Amino acid sequence: MMQMPMLVSELIAHAARYFSDVEIVSSRPDQEEVHRYTWLDCEVRARRLAHALAGIGVEQGERVGTLAFNSYRHLELYYAISGSGSVCHTVNPRLPLEQMAYVISHAQDGVVFFDVELFEHVVKLAPLCQGVRAWVCMADEASVPVGSGLPLLCYETLLASGSDAYEWPQLDENAGSCLCYTSGTTGIPKGVMYSHRSTVLHAMSISLPDVFNCSASEIILPVVPMFHANAWGLIYAAALVGAKLVLPGSRLDGFSLHKLIVSEGVTFAAGVPTVWLGILDYVNEQRLGLANLQRLLVGGSAMAPSLFEAFGALGVEVVHAWGMTELSPVGVAATLLPKHALLSREEQLRVLAKQGRPPFGIDVRIVDSEGRTLPHDGAACGELQVRGRWVAASYFDVDESPLQEGWFPTGDMGTIDSDGYVDLTDRKKDLIKSGGEWISSITVERAAAEHPGVEVAACVACVHPKWVERPLLVVKLREGSDVRASELRAFLGARLTSWWVPDDVVFVDQVPVGATGKVDKRALRERFADFLSR
Ligand code: AMP
Repeated sequence: MMQMPMLVSELIAHAARYFSDVEIVSSRPDQEEVHRYTWLDCEVRARRLAHALAGIGVEQGERVGTLAFNSYRHLELYYAISGSGSVCHTVNPRLPLEQMAYVISHAQDGVVFFDVELFEHVVKLAPLCQGVRAWVCMADEASVPVGSGLPLLCYETLLASGSDAYEWPQLDENAGSCLCYTSGTTGIPKGVMYSHRSTVLHAMSISLPDVFNCSASEIILPVVPMFHANAWGLIYAAALVGAKLVLPGSRLDGFSLHKLIVSEGVTFAAGVPTVWLGILDYVNEQRLGLANLQRLLVGGSAMAPSLFEAFGALGVEVVHAWGMTELSPVGVAATLLPKHALLSREEQLRVLAKQGRPPFGIDVRIVDSEGRTLPHDGAACGELQVRGRWVAASYFDVDESPLQEGWFPTGDMGTIDSDGYVDLTDRKKDLIKSGGEWISSITVERAAAEHPGVEVAACVACVHPKWVERPLLVVKLREGSDVRASELRAFLGARLTSWWVPDDVVFVDQVPVGATGKVDKRALRERFADFLSR
């Protein structure tokens, strides 16, 4: 067979060649009107940009930072940077400033592209990131901030300096294409360097019918940011299958997303549970529908089963998936097997609420605390470990390998059944150890989320004089709800083993969320650590 490297540039070249008139639509921060062009337009501009990058001294293998939301310019950068042989380092603008500075410096980004909306970050970051020789504002000349004293370049001017005669180079498929740091909820962010090969294989895999079922018939809205594990690979999968792509920018509220879903005919959207709760509230309040939306991909945190029913009532199917930055990021996805067709809807939902099964290319196992492999019987619970062609073998610029006997330990705890469905019970650190026995915070949260008055529930461990740790439930109520702690505890008592019922319930106006939109359990743990012993 022919030997041809798998390259990120092939994805966009394919989209431009065979889906030249398929649209890419982007929201713009300051304008009502969206930006609209095609995969062909995108590829031509990406090639110009790739040529222009060399003009400002970007070398092969060099890391180029992006500090940006989901937009057509960010998309061009993805392909221009990786396609030309340098590495696209997506920086999460929601990280604390010192962590942003840390990752930019650690990655040795020489050039950083930024959305004009994030200019305030750049002003604060520039003195901390002395290695950055140019900051490029992703706008036209008229919109580039003046008078900052920073070495700012203009994206459109830079792009215009490139030639569209530029051809994508042949690269080593194992060279780095994109660099993404873990969200840092577990300490200092660590970099994961994806290769061209891993990226293309991941895109092929997630497009499969039993994973995300991507095709040219879809209109895909990745609400998940492009700085969160490459928007879960959907940016690449959309080019691979030639789907229309809708990029939402920074406005992720219910109103803005609903407007895009309806006006662009979105069929498939992806994001963390908090985003979908926002849409659901908006749609229900305004008594609206979701037009052509058929499927919703939910990942990043465990999903409350009530979301299935709520979206089901709106005619939208929910696809639950699990992954990590270290896995490019998709590890498993929950879709039904033919044998499940005979089950009742309730039984099917129980299967779909699990995190899901691995596609070809990923292998999963669970191990006990001594590293012994546990059976896939749906009962034995251990740490989930994975291996595969798009799983990190090491962290960027870190000598120590994270692998155990060739497997990546995920830090997530769960079961695997005989069909390979992974059902997570917790993060290792989120488990609550009461009197030497484990309590799954996810199970408690899921049960609490079934109460109609509860909008968000987070269960955390508190120090306890007798049991060492006991669970506390932190709840944000839905507007208009006046549920009391005793009522909620009784509700949970009817659904959980008695000793899993949280000792108390604290009501808050806002549940803190981290840089990727997930509930920040660490912040809650710190805030309420001594709540039960006060
Ligand atoms: P990140 O690398 O920021 O995407 O975080 C990965 C972590 O998010 C995983 O190790 C899990 O703890 C959590 N996670 C992702 N997807 C799910 C899911 N569907 N259910 C439960 N936890 C999830």
